[in-house]
Amino acid sequence: MELYKNVYQIQSLFGGRNLFQYLFVGENTVLVDTGIAETPEKVIFPYMERLGLAPKDLKMSVTTHADLDHQGENDNIKRHSPGTWLACGEADRELIENPCALFDLRYNFLREDHGVGFDPEPGPEAGSRRAMDVSFSGGERIWLGEDWNLEVMHVPGHSRGHLALYDVKHKTAFVGDAIHGRGCPKAEGGLAIPVTYYFVDIYLSTLRYLEILPLDCLYSGHWPVMQGEEVRDFIAESRQTVELLDRVIITSLSKQPSGLTLRELIDSVSNAIGDWPKESWEIAMFVVKGHMDRLEELAKARRVRGERPVIWQAL
Ligand SMILES: [Zn+2]
Repeated sequence: MELYKNVYQIQSLFGGRNLFQYLFVGENTVLVDTGIAETPEKVIFPYMERLGLAPKDLKMSVTTHADLDHQGENDNIKRHSPGTWLACGEADRELIENPCALFDLRYNFLREDHGVGFDPEPGPEAGSRRAMDVSFSGGERIWLGEDWNLEVMHVPGHSRGHLALYDVKHKTAFVGDAIHGRGCPKAEGGLAIPVTYYFVDIYLSTLRYLEILPLDCLYSGHWPVMQGEEVRDFIAESRQTVELLDRVIITSLSKQPSGLTLRELIDSVSNAIGDWPKESWEIAMFVVKGHMDRLEELAKARRVRGERPVIWQAL
């Protein structure tokens, strides 16, 4: 779909959710995200072909953040087009370059202490190892043509090195999974999975940053296109979700003096939200652990010494 002149949204489905990549066709042609392993060959290259573009026409491919549905086949892009520069946020680089690191350090880091996690090994959809050519920290500019630039923004929270691209001229932002609302939607409507931000305070500052950015339109990795007031409502809903989760966790801990495990807190939070599908609840491990790190820092919760899985008590 052409969003506006020379800017395209490329759509496919992954796990019942929309999966979007974006293509900017200027003097430089820039792709945002590469999907899962099969996305370039099945979806992105055929889409480009219909526009009269070959893979080698890509000057740069920017991966917004470390997740298998956004970085899946950077290797595939490079094999088809060795001249394309692969780019990502510096703080996510290790996880984006190596699917095994992604699974060990991002998806399964809670397994030992909390007994929750994903499959131990990356599946084929996670793609192959591939070094990045360049990494960004925010503040850089990607030149697309006369009077047309993308500003690179660092918008952490969902991951440490999460990037967004801001089209200054058109007041549009391409934010990947930087903002979560109440969860990630199914393509057919309703929620598919819980919110998955992790660094709570940093996520709140990202929401604030995007709230004050002059923005007419917001494009993301999975959520519908939002315009004007819808953008502000989405950011407000995201902030309310953070506050709700905090409240539910504190209330649940104070009702259970012997303490609660991560799994028990996941159940409390998921029940309070009400419409996260039950089979996806475990994915709330990241957000609940993020809130618990923060509550420990604020001296509102503590771990019971020596317990595995970890048990937290209210303070
Ligand atoms: Zn995603």
